[in-house]
Amino acid sequence: MRLERLDVAIAGAGIGGLSLGAMLAGRGAKVVIYDQMAAPQPVGSGFVLQPTGQAVLATMRLLDGARARGAEIHRMHGSLAGQETDGAGKTVLDISYRKGEYGIAIQRVALFDLLLQAAIDAGVAFETSSQVTGFEPGARPGIMFDNGRRAPSADLVVDAMGASSPVGHDSAKELGYGALWATVPWPEHGPFHANELEQRYEKASRMTGVLPVGTAADGAPAMATFFWSLRNRDIEPWRKAGRAAWTDEVAALWPQAAAFADIAEPVHARYRHHTRKPVAGRNVLRIGDAWHATSPQLGQGANMALLDAASLASALEGSASLDEALRLHVRQRWMHVALYQTLSAALTPFYQSDSRVLPLLRDIAIAPTTGLPVIRSIVSRLVTGDFLDPLKRIGVERL
Ligand SMILES: Cc1cc2nc3c(=O)[nH]c(=O)nc-3n(C[C@H](O)[C@H](O)[C@H](O)COP(=O)(O)OP(=O)(O)OC[C@H]3O[C@@H](n4cnc5c(N)ncnc54)[C@H](O)[C@@H]3O)c2cc1C
Repeated sequence: MRLERLDVAIAGAGIGGLSLGAMLAGRGAKVVIYDQMAAPQPVGSGFVLQPTGQAVLATMRLLDGARARGAEIHRMHGSLAGQETDGAGKTVLDISYRKGEYGIAIQRVALFDLLLQAAIDAGVAFETSSQVTGFEPGARPGIMFDNGRRAPSADLVVDAMGASSPVGHDSAKELGYGALWATVPWPEHGPFHANELEQRYEKASRMTGVLPVGTAADGAPAMATFFWSLRNRDIEPWRKAGRAAWTDEVAALWPQAAAFADIAEPVHARYRHHTRKPVAGRNVLRIGDAWHATSPQLGQGANMALLDAASLASALEGSASLDEALRLHVRQRWMHVALYQTLSAALTPFYQSDSRVLPLLRDIAIAPTTGLPVIRSIVSRLVTGDFLDPLKRIGVERL
């Protein structure tokens, strides 16, 4: 398709919306991104860019920028709270990357700045303070806003409004557990490992983690993401109990992390699990979390949004018509999406739930098997997002 003739309206200036906007505008399409924010800005702390997401960033020439900001992650290590001097007990999660691969843990703001600049450079137009309420599908669909306004019709409308997209919203899809997330200064002199995501668990009802996430901008200090699992219904009691009570709780689970609880300004993130239809109506498509949201347990969400954007961009470029491109894009992505949604739904309760049986299974039966070479390699592929070879499906080269 000649993308120069394509009018695209994207709802949502997050990871999926910005990357898709940059890719399509860079190939000549006329792209407008609408977002509810007064100015485009990221929400949240940091996450790991897996080799799949990194490969997509490489096609956008943004990988070097991400590497310069982020921290290399070689291992994900989780243990039960214990009596060792570092507060660690039995190891129940130990995942290393395959040879030559690593994750890039990056502050959300750092990735956001790279994507936003790429979108601006490619000529994307932005309309901020635009609260989207729905779409009018059709040969020339449109976006509708809360003030009754309707955006000019486009050839293609994309819902990239993330997990809480109002279109097809179902409040029953919210998970019982969310987490407190905070960006805190990285302690240069330990005790945490500079190239690891480290976690501590007690059953499945308590989980905390520390992830080094590099710098937000040139010359800015290195930071870490600190998270603490919390049931949604426990947010108010947690607030009422106050900072000192939280610090004590963190200290009981992981003494070295208590200093983070002392200074953190945490935000409580709620998680949702849904897999909506990728096509929301004629010429209206969902990408990223608007299509497939889940808990961040497998750490794939940002990578999946990048894969969706790259898939749609290549399908549009390589197809003779819009209908054909949308069909091709869904064909390229649905199996990978379905697999990771299923795995995430199955694995999340082992780490965040009130179950007593699942964490026992995790610690006694599953943890020892992950040390076996074959299982290690499977788990490593799982975490890098590489099952079903999603890059090959969308024609993006591995790194
Ligand atoms: C706490 C937490 C930790 C995570 N950790 C990881 C991780 O380690 N690894 C990983 O890969 N992923 C992680 N994720 C998931 C990842 O953040 C998401 O999967 C990813 O951001 C999805 O991108 P998106 O573009 O679909 O949506 P988002 O990035 O959420 O962007 C949605 C955009 O839509 C806008 N918007 C929403 N509603 C409206 C509206 N009504 N009108 C106009 N605009 C609207 C928002 O302002 C926002 O700009 C985590 C998520 C959370 C919450």
